[in-house]
Amino acid sequence: MNERCQIHVEGIVQGVGFRPFIYALATENRLGGFVLNNSAGVVIELEGDRKALDRFLADLRKQAPPHASIEKIVCDTIPVRGEESFNIEPSRDGPERRAFISPDKVICDECLNELFDPSNRRHRYAFISCTYCGPRFTIIGKIPYDRQHTTMAAFPMCLECQREYHDSTSRRFHAQANACSRCGPQVRLVRPDGSELNDIDPVSAAARLLGSGAILALKGLGGYHLACNALDEAAVATLRRRKKREGKPFALMAGDLQTIERFCFVEEGEKFLLSGPERPIVLLRQRDRSSIARDVAPGQKYLGWMLPYTPVHYLLIENSGLPLVMTSGNLSEEPIAHEDSDALQRLSRIADYFLVNNREIQTRCDDSVMRKFDNRELMIRRSRGYAPLPIALARRFAQDTLACGAHLKNTFCLGRDHHAFLSHHIGDLENYETLKSFIEGIEQFKSFFDIQPSLIAHDLHPDYLSTKYAAGLDGVNRVAVQHHHAHIVSCMAEHGLEGPVIGIAFDGLGYGPDGTIWGGEFLIADLAGYTRRAHLRCVSLAGGDSAIREPWRSALSYVKDSLGKNPLALELPGWRSVSLNKVAQVETMLERNVNTFRTSSCGRLFDAVASILGLNHKANFEGQAAMALEAAALQGIEDDYPFDIEENEPWQIDLRPGIASLVGEVVAGSETGVIAAKFHNTLGSVITEVCLRLRKTEGLNRICLSGGTFQNMYLLERVVRRLRERGFQVFVNSKVPPNDGGISLGQAVIANAVVG
Ligand SMILES: [Zn+2]
Ligand SMILES: [Zn+2]
Ligand SMILES: [Zn+2]
Repeated sequence: MNERCQIHVEGIVQGVGFRPFIYALATENRLGGFVLNNSAGVVIELEGDRKALDRFLADLRKQAPPHASIEKIVCDTIPVRGEESFNIEPSRDGPERRAFISPDKVICDECLNELFDPSNRRHRYAFISCTYCGPRFTIIGKIPYDRQHTTMAAFPMCLECQREYHDSTSRRFHAQANACSRCGPQVRLVRPDGSELNDIDPVSAAARLLGSGAILALKGLGGYHLACNALDEAAVATLRRRKKREGKPFALMAGDLQTIERFCFVEEGEKFLLSGPERPIVLLRQRDRSSIARDVAPGQKYLGWMLPYTPVHYLLIENSGLPLVMTSGNLSEEPIAHEDSDALQRLSRIADYFLVNNREIQTRCDDSVMRKFDNRELMIRRSRGYAPLPIALARRFAQDTLACGAHLKNTFCLGRDHHAFLSHHIGDLENYETLKSFIEGIEQFKSFFDIQPSLIAHDLHPDYLSTKYAAGLDGVNRVAVQHHHAHIVSCMAEHGLEGPVIGIAFDGLGYGPDGTIWGGEFLIADLAGYTRRAHLRCVSLAGGDSAIREPWRSALSYVKDSLGKNPLALELPGWRSVSLNKVAQVETMLERNVNTFRTSSCGRLFDAVASILGLNHKANFEGQAAMALEAAALQGIEDDYPFDIEENEPWQIDLRPGIASLVGEVVAGSETGVIAAKFHNTLGSVITEVCLRLRKTEGLNRICLSGGTFQNMYLLERVVRRLRERGFQVFVNSKVPPNDGGISLGQAVIANAVVG
């Protein structure tokens, strides 16, 4: 007796070879029926005997394709129809859109073999892909994931590709991005003026040019990269000069792990991250005397490496035999270029040649960046390979939610049910281009996941573009969220904590409800609220943005605050970067309270110390001085500097005695690396001491650490070790960045807790 059932599968089941897998499984079990994609996932109808149906259902989970992730299976019995054959049917657009969208996937081993096989018809074809690999998120305009909804729609398949597409035994059975050199996108090598170099093989010509020192703009999955030979000092220096990007490290790409190991130490866990299907940039500790050009990451202990992830990367590396700089294709401050005309225009002063192609990029998506900490991944930038996969949460979103994220390193987050859909990296919301990406991204995510947010979370700062965007939305409930509370809750949400916890948020800047700028905060936090129990004692800083750009301003504030009058009488390296007149002018501003603000920022404290030590005078990006200070710190130093804690409400952590002795040591000519280490150790001692006192008064033992400062490995390792030694349970971010890229997750969760 035959039976028939209808099965709904939800999760990551589109763009991962799921329908071909179902087809194979059904025919193997001699079941009739069909499979199709709809906007909620995959629908399967099966007809056959009970045993065969049971076998099918058991194998559905067990044997699912490697990149699939099944969230939910619902199975109903329905009337039999007498169907004997099994088919893949056209997608249906249903009322509900619940399908997840697969991130872009690294080229698979089989496709890679074909790429380098001279007898294969796709030999050296730059857009080779199959049901298991290739671009997804960056080419999808809407769901269900069908070719006509992607930027591959412009390329009708040739007969041979069509045959594969319809052949149930082919790896390209229903592969939506299937193409070959006859029918698919093509690569071209052009000069900045748009004229073409008529080489038979543009990729090998580009590889030759890289070998001779050229800078290449390369169109990738989510945008343009700028590439050059990473061993060529002159080429890298030229790239840095043209890109106007002083100090910020460039990412690197090598063909295999062995090459990377020549330049950096790579532990097992790091190898795993590097070679995973997401292919992130992984920060690795550099070996002494590595031959990577100095300008790749000036003064850094760590280099960011990734392995190739597209066919073009593999071909370029294979042909050039070089490790390559592979940095995002933009001038500093601008978002990564992803449209061809725009790229030619914006990058023409940087790149000597452009390796372009005629497949459009639907969504801009930067490379992800991570490192290994405490045997887990520590996300620094969550983007390509991860977005737009949701983060599963313990607590449901009571209503559809949009969180607008932070001002810098923006991501937004849409929440529904148990899922937080964090966006790809949008960037610093400081210019029109980025704001446009932000708004377009939100609209696209809303449509992808069919989320109509009625609850909007945004930062407390009234002037942020994201706050203004939120204010412009009609008919919604708005919740303003304090920046550091959002940091702590991003960490709590990842670990399923409801609180209260001791939350330590150390970072650059966040708007406080008291009108000062926060950034060195100890909060007692739960999901809905917090109390500020302690913070770094505030100092006055002069200037707006220039206070961040010019670390000597922080140095002046801290020295003046700690040592009293006449800081200019001290022989400090920080003063040498600017004219004494200028310093004197700013000192007067501080005295008269002209254009000053009060801040407890830990980032500015790092700036101050880096400047006092002469390590950094001009910061081209937030955190640059702190990175220099971390790189300078010597290992194996246990000393620290004195500090006081004034137990008024909230407690004030007074570092004046420490700054005074630190300045004394600098003036006396003590070793920079020792002073830098002692400064880090001092913060470690501050954190331990405050937590011990809070445990006594609050009876809390769980600590969440978040904020950009905790990307500092010297500090993070020390703090976590010392707190654990004292019996604390310590949690840090892993899946979302501790920096402002993770803020949107915290905002979304808080807004839901607040409205109950
Ligand atoms: Zn493949
Ligand atoms: Zn073809
Ligand atoms: Zn922050």
